Amino acid sequence: MRLIEATILKIIKSKAGKEKFIVYYLRSNWFDICGANIAKHSKPTRIDRGILFVNTDSSAWSHNLLMMKAQLMGKIKNSLGEIGSLKGQDISIKDIMFFNGLITKNISTEESKEETKLVFKPLTEEEQKEIYNKTAKLTNPEIRAAFDRILNDDKKRKKAVLDVWNRQCKKCGVPIIGEYYYCPACERERKDALWAKAAEIINSAPWLSHEECLNYVNCDKMLFSEIKANIKNKAYQKIAQEECTAEDKVFVTLLELGIVPEKLTDELIEETVERLRRNIYVSSSRSRLRNKE
Ligand SMILES: [Zn+2]
Repeated sequence: MRLIEATILKIIKSKAGKEKFIVYYLRSNWFDICGANIAKHSKPTRIDRGILFVNTDSSAWSHNLLMMKAQLMGKIKNSLGEIGSLKGQDISIKDIMFFNGLITKNISTEESKEETKLVFKPLTEEEQKEIYNKTAKLTNPEIRAAFDRILNDDKKRKKAVLDVWNRQCKKCGVPIIGEYYYCPACERERKDALWAKAAEIINSAPWLSHEECLNYVNCDKMLFSEIKANIKNKAYQKIAQEECTAEDKVFVTLLELGIVPEKLTDELIEETVERLRRNIYVSSSRSRLRNKE
């Protein structure tokens, strides 16, 4: 049993906070959970509706891990069992999804050990009084003193844990837990705003790469890929229709090839649209087959 982690998990009340902490915990212990090789190429990033999202550095690794999913799930559950997160109302992980993208920050085990070092500070008079009142019903002074001591130690430990984990949201100031700068609500708001801004830029200049897009909006590569995939999907749907406009064709070509408008030719546009339509047709008939099964 890992006491510190189990305690933190108990102290965190919100589901989102617990999820964030579990992701942080998995990330810090990823090396121990799945070994050096896998840890080098992957990283857990978030939990959403019981699904753990694991980021990998290539599609080959996403595929590898998909093949090992059951095994990996077992190891994750074992590790989470050690911090008591599988009991009762706590977060459960029902599935794992792998996707490839940039692995930006690797938290080394050294770093996380340092972060969980607890500093015990003396209790304030107020806090001591509160504890003293709690034991008022105990008439035997020795027992009362013993309880007092236990409660004091417990309070000190909780305070120390909160010192380590508690931060304030940079925007609204509410306390947050874990290595985050914004509370879940502000983070969502921030992401929505970034999304809208980046989407606007990609829609008006679909050939831009992530690096070029960074000149206009500070969105990380993962978010950029997510937005671009979303825009591509919509563009594909449009050109799948015979009656799509010339603008739709130009847009999808610029988006798909990442070339500036000056380099466009009629041939390029026709070729690209043809190829994409073939792909759309193949994948939709595949899913139709799958649905029949
Ligand atoms: Zn906030």
